[in-house]
Amino acid sequence: IARNPGEHEFHQAVREVFDSLGRVLTKFPEYVEESILERICEPERQIIFRIPWTDDTGRVHINRGFRVQFNSALGPYKGGLRFDPSVMLGTVKFLGFEQIFKNALTGLPIGGGKGGSDFNPKGRSDGEIMRFCQSFMTEAYRHIGSSVDVPAGDIGVGRREIGYLFGQYKRIANRYEAGVITGKGTSWGGSLVRTEATGYGTAFFTEHMLGVSGRSLDGSKVLVSGSGNVAFYAIEKIHALGGLVVGASDSSGAVHDSEGIDLELMREIKQVQRGRISEYAERRGSAEFIEARPVWAVAEKHDVDVALPCATQNELDDDDARLLLKAGVKAVVEGANMPTTPAAIERFREAGALFGPGKAANAGGVATSALEMQQNSIRDSWTFEYTEARLAEIIENIHARCAGTAEEYGVPGDYVAGANIAGFTQVADAMIAQGVI
Ligand code: NDP
Repeated sequence: IARNPGEHEFHQAVREVFDSLGRVLTKFPEYVEESILERICEPERQIIFRIPWTDDTGRVHINRGFRVQFNSALGPYKGGLRFDPSVMLGTVKFLGFEQIFKNALTGLPIGGGKGGSDFNPKGRSDGEIMRFCQSFMTEAYRHIGSSVDVPAGDIGVGRREIGYLFGQYKRIANRYEAGVITGKGTSWGGSLVRTEATGYGTAFFTEHMLGVSGRSLDGSKVLVSGSGNVAFYAIEKIHALGGLVVGASDSSGAVHDSEGIDLELMREIKQVQRGRISEYAERRGSAEFIEARPVWAVAEKHDVDVALPCATQNELDDDDARLLLKAGVKAVVEGANMPTTPAAIERFREAGALFGPGKAANAGGVATSALEMQQNSIRDSWTFEYTEARLAEIIENIHARCAGTAEEYGVPGDYVAGANIAGFTQVADAMIAQGVI
């Protein structure tokens, strides 16, 4: 903590992993002898840079850019870029640290990294977004490459931003290196299913978790926080699997829709018009808007079986956990990164509710990014059906690995411990094999 002052989210992420490792360190003392704990929480490289850009009136703005190349034991650094005013070094380090173990769990050859900027894309024109992305890449291009470090999207970075970033990389590097970034458009090197992958994967993971105790999503009432990329496709797949999503949100509030979220209306408002969730309630008779509250407020008046936090970190706290448990929640699965506070996780654990941690449940996005890298390197593109089947298989394996590891270490049903131990041991073994580097 003294070494990384003020990086609270990073401390939280490290503590959560280390809390799971007691039995591992007793069983394998070489991890202690080789100083793996100290090594694994120190990034291999951290790049911080200035991003100057001009707005539509010609005024110059300065933002700060980050790329944290955390761990390359298993492959090139891989992880998204987040553009949000809340981004600081501690945010990027927490996300990069989580990414190391998540990427290991996919079973694919990718290391962990993350990046972003404190730039606020809200209310900016396409031209401003483009100039910002070009300026970001004008520095970032020196540090990335298809065998070096492969960024992707995250909050505030979608298909449009990936296009501008890739275009600038191509222009500076003077080569069409498709595998340098993932989340591209499908007509220029992107993979089918990448857009849907994180949300779909989270729904698949939920179905597997429920399946262990003979339950399923079919007929379940579900709350999903957020209405961005992860939330949207989680809702789509939950509906396909027979569940009913009765609540969603954005940073201005939540909606409750007793007939289930109408995805076409949601797409029109959030993806086409880039509007607010309150407009959904204005245009849908069965929906009500709950201003300035999280979606968990729906549980004050309605039963809930499953909760999927898919918006941002620490958005589901202990009070929310109490509310959800009172409303009957049986499973909580993280589509976002670290959305549940430690106290809330503990409360779910004590109550016997199933809990799926993000580094396992939302790994479908990065896994499909790795499938995009595979397609780029063989200059091929796979069908939607084939790619979705690969995604489903990867999620099934991650679920089995987390459940199996938890059982092996004497904590059956503890997916947090299972994910942390399985991811950690794979990365630690590779680090030891590669020497003191
Ligand atoms: P988006 O930017 O597409 O969507 C984020 C959504 O969360 C928006 O609806 C946003 O609302 C909402 N939101 C932000 N803050 C809050 C808040 N405090 N309360 C309620 N809603 C809020 O991002 P993504 O969907 O891509 O990412 C969501 C989460 O999933 C992040 O934690 C990300 O790291 C994680 N993730 C994403 C992956 C991906 O493939 N995209 C992969 C793995 C994890 P508003 O529009 O008002 O800001």
